[in-house]
Amino acid sequence: MKNKIVSAVITAVLFILTSCAADAPDDSIAGVTGEKKSSGSVFAMDTYMTITAYGKNGEKGIEAAQKEITRLEKLWSVTDENSEIYAIDHSGGTDVEISTETEEILSFATDMHRRTKGALDITLYPVLRAWGFTTGEYRVPDEDEISALLECKGVDMIKVDSGKVSVPENTEIDLGAIAKGCAGDAAAEALKDQGVTSALLDLGGNIQTVGDTKPDGTKWKVGIRDPFGEGSIGTLSVGECAVITSGGYERFFEQDGVIYKHILDPETGRPAESGLASVTIIGNEGRTCDALSTSLYVMGLDDACGYWRENGDFDMILVSDEGGIYVTEGISDSFAPSAGNVTVVKR
Ligand code: ADP
Ligand code: MG
Repeated sequence: MKNKIVSAVITAVLFILTSCAADAPDDSIAGVTGEKKSSGSVFAMDTYMTITAYGKNGEKGIEAAQKEITRLEKLWSVTDENSEIYAIDHSGGTDVEISTETEEILSFATDMHRRTKGALDITLYPVLRAWGFTTGEYRVPDEDEISALLECKGVDMIKVDSGKVSVPENTEIDLGAIAKGCAGDAAAEALKDQGVTSALLDLGGNIQTVGDTKPDGTKWKVGIRDPFGEGSIGTLSVGECAVITSGGYERFFEQDGVIYKHILDPETGRPAESGLASVTIIGNEGRTCDALSTSLYVMGLDDACGYWRENGDFDMILVSDEGGIYVTEGISDSFAPSAGNVTVVKR
């Protein structure tokens, strides 16, 4: 309880301290001249998020977006005893009443599980816990422990029906792979509802934009992080969209010279070793991009390209463990690599 109060206070203080408006041009993000610029930050969903809005209503928009993010975090946190996900995870197999938002995200996750042939699985929480990814107390579980925990997987057994959900008794849900993308969609909508037509959201590396161009009429420029270092592998010019990256570098630990990363292969219950170092998905919807960045990372290069060819309404940038960069043809002209070997992936 005390922790919760402290974190609520920190969240509020962070937001207040950084929420400001300025008429100064900002060349670092937008190269905007003369446009009013507002920005706000919030710590939510285990990450630091910043929102920058241009033009009038920016502050109102940011406040509304920030409220949306905190509201969704309260519904979907795995650790907050008052969240709907916490209630589901501790329901012992009985029905739990849920909000429309939770019903929607669960249906979406179930659908994406099917589409990705199981690569996205929101019921890996017990396995993630065994590896210590939920607490930071890392360890390597043995095969028997992993096999026993994999018995608790159960996306196909999540029953969602008119405001209620039930999951099998030992199954636990964690929305870590998709919640930030969904929150980004809701935050972008909240900004638009307040009349904001130009904004950039950075939700812990998940980028979402509002408006096809910056106020100066040029495209948004998004740096794509180098999975092997601090810099970027290049810059992507985009309109209104989401640009979402998953990579093992986000959270990992090393034991006896082996690196264990936080994205698990649902089939083995072990960190995915697919040959990919990072996956960036570019598309209209944050939630789909977030779901795909995690699941195509699990699939690896060939299956990810296969998925793209079959489903296609998105683009992607894949970086292999060897440092090769693979870019789908739809964005090959808008991606300016800073270095490296780029291959264009065709239909
Ligand atoms: P991040 O949250 O670091 O930006 P992701 O969107 O890729 O990265 O989500 C990774 C998180 O999703 C993990 O920390 C874990 O909670 C959860 N997770 C890990 N493997 C899977 C998987 N195969 N399917 C669904 N969720 C997963
Ligand atoms: Mg994801």
